[in-house]
This record gives sequence, C-alpha cells and structure tokens, in this order.
Amino acid sequence: MQIPVGISACVLGEKVRFDGGHKQNRFIVDELTKYFTFKPVCPEMGIGMPVPRPVIRLLQLPSNEIRLVESKHQDIDHTDKMVEFAHKKVSQFDNLCGYVVCAKSPTCGMERVKLHIPNNNTVPGGSVGIYTRELMAKMPWLPVEEDGRLNDPVLRENFVFRIFALNDFYRSVRDQLSANAIVKFHSRYKLVLMAHNPTAYKALGGMVAHISEWDINEFYLEYRLKFMEAIKERASRKNKTNVLMHLQGYFKRSLTKEQKLELSELIMSYKEGNQPILVPLALIKHYLREYPDPYLQLQTFLDPYPEDLKLRYGL
Ligand code: SF4
Repeated sequence: MQIPVGISACVLGEKVRFDGGHKQNRFIVDELTKYFTFKPVCPEMGIGMPVPRPVIRLLQLPSNEIRLVESKHQDIDHTDKMVEFAHKKVSQFDNLCGYVVCAKSPTCGMERVKLHIPNNNTVPGGSVGIYTRELMAKMPWLPVEEDGRLNDPVLRENFVFRIFALNDFYRSVRDQLSANAIVKFHSRYKLVLMAHNPTAYKALGGMVAHISEWDINEFYLEYRLKFMEAIKERASRKNKTNVLMHLQGYFKRSLTKEQKLELSELIMSYKEGNQPILVPLALIKHYLREYPDPYLQLQTFLDPYPEDLKLRYGL
C-alpha cells in the first residue's frame, strides 16, 4: 500500500521553475517512490503564473507584514492569490502523511527563505515561503521537510519515520476510531516515544490512561498533534541506549551470563558511537525470535519502516 505524500512539483522533476528547470531529488525518485505516492503541486503555476516567469521574493513591509512580490516590480503582489490557493489545496489534503517542499523558494521554502526589506537589504534568519507557511499552520501535525535537508541522514530518517508513523495512525486508528484502537496504537509506540521524547512519553501515557473521560473525536485530534510533535524530536543516542537497555531487561531470565555480557557490550559500543544501532538491535531481534514476547514483538521501535530504505545504517 503506497502512502500519499505531497511534494513541490519541481523536486519530483517537473520543469516548473521560474527558469523552466527542475530540482529533482534522486533519493525521492529512486527510493521513496517505492513506498510513497507523491502528489506534486507547483503553487506558482497553481495561481496562474507561466513558465518561464518573473522572479519573485518575500518582502517585509514596515508594518512587518510579509508579502510575495515580483523582484523587479514590487507593486505586483501575489500574496492574496497564493494564500487563497494554499487554503483551497490544504482542504484536499486530508489523507496526506507528509510533504516535501523545495528549499529557499519564497513560495515553498520551509525555513530561512530570503526575506527582503524595501531598501533591498535582507532580514537575518529569513522566513517561510507563503504556501508552506499556510500548509504548516493548517496542518501542524503533518511531517514537512525540505529537499536539501533530506541529505542529512538524521533528518532523513526522522522525516521518513514520521510519515510511516502517521500512515500507521490513520490506518489503525482513524479508519476504526475507538478508545481501544488508540490504546493499542499507543502501546506499540511506547519505546519509540521513550527514544524520541521521554517527557512526551509520560504525558501521552497519562492522556491515554484517562481516555474514557474524553470525547473520542477530541482525543483523536489532540493525541495526533501531541504524538506527531513528540516524534519530531530527534531520538538521541542516549535515549536510544536507554531503550536498548530496557529491551535487554526483558531477556534477563532467558539469556546466559555470556549472552547478557555480549549484548551489554554491543549496547555500550553503540552508546560510544562505535556501532550503528542496527548491531545491538539485530541481536535483540534474534533473542526475540528465540524467546518471543507479545508486547515486544509489536513494538514499532524494532521495525519502524522497510529495511531496504537503509535509514538506520549511519545512525
Ligand atoms: S519551488 Fe514551489 S513554486 Fe517554485 S517551482 Fe518548485 S513547486 Fe513551483
């Protein structure tokens, strides 16, 4: 089953940029299309701009308002049309589990987009492209990432994982909404939450424990937002080491002294950065096959996405 993910059309390879070019990303085309169905959108073409077209930029007015204007003719302002287009598009995005946007674009960029002021200087730190600003405001739970940042193995892993997790949430919770479905989902993600955000792990656990006091639809919305916020935080090596040690604890009665020592050494070696997490995990999975545990076997932390994406190789 393919997962629907939005994307800036130029990042998928469509020649829709102002100069008639594209910004195709090979990882997306070669790897992610195996699992994701990308829904390309070029918002500038969406508001009727041609290819090629005049260069546009973000302009901060003295009132601090940010407008999307043509670089050479700053009185030609596309902001209102772009905001309207974004709202219309977002209303059709109910099923999306993620979005890849094009870096630096005044329309699609997610961060540090050049922000000009009328005298042609720029504001330090920049801003967000107008379309992506509206997208993120309307869908704050949605994983959004820029094409360039996907070259960073940590950001790449985190982004792809969040897409798989949101898709899992929709399939196992939204499509059959009940307290039981949420409790089961939460139980499968306990180790994931411990690794990403121990504070949120506790807070979400407390929420789920009181689920019967909530209206189920309100709970669903609140849990989705808080869960997606929690896993956006990078799972640190320290937290992941704690999770590995927690997993090790399940085998304390089954393993021999030598086996325990070997596993401890691998976990410590991972902690010190000498091994990728795959090494101690492979041994843990091996012991799990020998000594099955129904709770552990369901933990998403062990297999968060298809192995052939090779996302954990460098982590
Ligand atoms: S960055 Fe966005 S608006 Fe610009 S060409 Fe790509 S998809 Fe179109």
